[in-house]
Amino acid sequence: MILILGGTTEADKLASTLTDDFIVSLAGVTNTAPSRSYRTRIGGFGGVDGLQKYIRSQNITALVDATHPFAAQISQNAHQAATATNIPYLRLERPKWTPQENWITVATLAEAADKLPANARAFLTIGSQHLTPFAGRKDVWFLTRSIEPAPACLEGIEILQRPPFTLEAEKSLMQLHKITHLVSKNAGGAQTCAKLDAALMLGIPTIMVSRPILPLADTVKTIEDAANWIRLKGE
Ligand code: NAP
Repeated sequence: MILILGGTTEADKLASTLTDDFIVSLAGVTNTAPSRSYRTRIGGFGGVDGLQKYIRSQNITALVDATHPFAAQISQNAHQAATATNIPYLRLERPKWTPQENWITVATLAEAADKLPANARAFLTIGSQHLTPFAGRKDVWFLTRSIEPAPACLEGIEILQRPPFTLEAEKSLMQLHKITHLVSKNAGGAQTCAKLDAALMLGIPTIMVSRPILPLADTVKTIEDAANWIRLKGE
């Protein structure tokens, strides 16, 4: 059986195209996940050891890591567990967004928080679980957008929305809230990229957090290539 680590649109689409014997693992972070037509398991494995035990007990023969590019912990664990159990590992990783002239690129969320000037009105699009580095910026007003409610640690407004977002809607939102800075992780993908063009068109700087460095591994960029890899492993 193939284990697919999910939590992304790509993992969902990949699973929806497969006829092989597989299971999709989800962290269980969101409470509002859409219903799925394929087999899933929910929740952490208990670190690398737990994942190794799962691989052995479920007779997993290959592992596809289709998690979000910023989900670095599970990707490291998965690579390590696949190596230790001697099963093939593939990462399905969507391409990064191409830098634009209004980008200020930083390595971490803490650095992004430091880059915001006093009295900025920042639009945070980094997920509900990663707001803590901004909590010290009492001199900044925040518009936060996420799928799940965030712990209330910032001064400003929270909106709960699931992508995709359109260019017109992103422009209107930024204008409505008089946004001066957009903060984003370089997640890549088409579902959430309209905000980047909206910020560029409105002359708003984008503070872009670079991707974490993951272990070197076989990597594909498309769902089709991942599906082909799975088919080859199943033969
Ligand atoms: P993370 O920091 O890399 O992982 C933290 C822990 O959550 C892992 O050690 C693992 O627990 C568990 N976990 C994560 N993904 C899992 C999966 N697919 N199946 C089972 N357990 C999983 O991950 P994260 O950044 O919190 O992201 C959690 C999930 O949300 C991921 O599946 C990711 O694809 C999705 N997601 C993340 C982001 C983001 O910006 N980080 C954005 C969109 C979606 P154990 O050690 O106990 O196994």
